[in-house]
Amino acid sequence: LKGPFLDARDVIEIIESNGHQAYFVGGCVRDLLLDRPIGDIDITTSAPPNTVMNLFKEVIPVGIEHGTVIVRYNKESYEVTTFRVEGEYSDHRHPDQVEFIDQLDKDLERRDFTINALAMDKDGKITDLFHGVEDLQKKVIRTVGSGVERFTEDPLRVIRALRFSSQLGFSIEDETLAAIHQVKDQIDNLAVERITNEMTKFLSGNHVRVGLDYLNETKIYNYLPVWSKHPEIIDIIPRNLQPLGSLAEFFALLHFKMPSISIQTWTKEWKCSNKERTEAQHLITALAYFQDNGLDPWLVYQLPNHFYGGFTRLVHTIFTPSSVSQIDMENLDSKLPIHSRKELEIDGNILIELFPNVKKGPWIQKALSRLEKEVVLGHLENDQIILKEWIKWNPPEIN
Ligand code: ATP
Ligand code: MG
Repeated sequence: LKGPFLDARDVIEIIESNGHQAYFVGGCVRDLLLDRPIGDIDITTSAPPNTVMNLFKEVIPVGIEHGTVIVRYNKESYEVTTFRVEGEYSDHRHPDQVEFIDQLDKDLERRDFTINALAMDKDGKITDLFHGVEDLQKKVIRTVGSGVERFTEDPLRVIRALRFSSQLGFSIEDETLAAIHQVKDQIDNLAVERITNEMTKFLSGNHVRVGLDYLNETKIYNYLPVWSKHPEIIDIIPRNLQPLGSLAEFFALLHFKMPSISIQTWTKEWKCSNKERTEAQHLITALAYFQDNGLDPWLVYQLPNHFYGGFTRLVHTIFTPSSVSQIDMENLDSKLPIHSRKELEIDGNILIELFPNVKKGPWIQKALSRLEKEVVLGHLENDQIILKEWIKWNPPEIN
């Protein structure tokens, strides 16, 4: 065992010492075997949720009716879920009822893909009932049991299959792919948030081109919000698409390529947060400015620092490599004469003193904006005397 598993081992031992079984399960075991970075550590246990809650001091009952409790242990969070079998997903969101059981094998059987149906005990011994390890070696995504049945139970698994192909670069096994073609219509019944969540991971996958090839081949985009009404979008996605950092980057890219669909439409129909909408808007503003003016200090100054990565990715994706050499936003940022208007050596009060006969009004903000831009672009030194002289010679427009 290594890294995060060592810390999590205590949690398993505490559950075991109370007479229950507990195993690492799902994505963390898969990623350990693939030597990929480990995300969340999930634990599956025979202990009923109430027992888990009693065993640990700090617990968050996030989905107790489905058997899931977050255990906080040594400042880390672990999702501990009781072995269960699931009923129908008639709301297409959660199983109607779950039954808690005390056998690991049934719990693994309800999982979506063989590579996600692996369990590992605290000593590193793997339980692999469906040849998941072999599929990891073959690099294939295969449903546990009949694809048609498993996708019909929860059509989100169709999107998840594409998501894992994008993250892992795996191919989708033939029968599983055939099942996807057969049941994909049922994606229409899913809650949008569930799709959005998987598609965010899809777009950030290290092998997103592999995922896009499946998206193209299966035409699953016909079931995605907005995209379903504009299937031609598949053709505007650049061949060299890199893994994206967020959905906002994706929407900025699409809006740039297809301005007739607004950022607002994308974010609303995909039920994104305001944060994502704001990010997309910042990115699109920067891209439009870049197209007209190239990369100048004003662009760097106006774009919030945490969007530099996304902006760089998009520029490299959209514009031909010859027209953009390496972009180092952080370096450009470090060379800016000022980083915010507060650092300007002149402010509204000084302007009012300079023009005592002019009534206060929007002209003050406008004048400051002009000075700010001149300073950022390096046309003017950020020196109060110089700024005062300049504004006297270039007086603000009143009204
Ligand atoms: P990631 O590293 O992105 O979190 P993951 O495999 O852990 O990948 P999760 O969505 O966190 O994916 O789900 C955890 C585990 O729960 C999966 O590995 C799988 O065993 C099971 N699982 C999740 N969603 C489903 C589903 N819709 N149907 C069946 N099993 C599922
Ligand atoms: Mg996970």
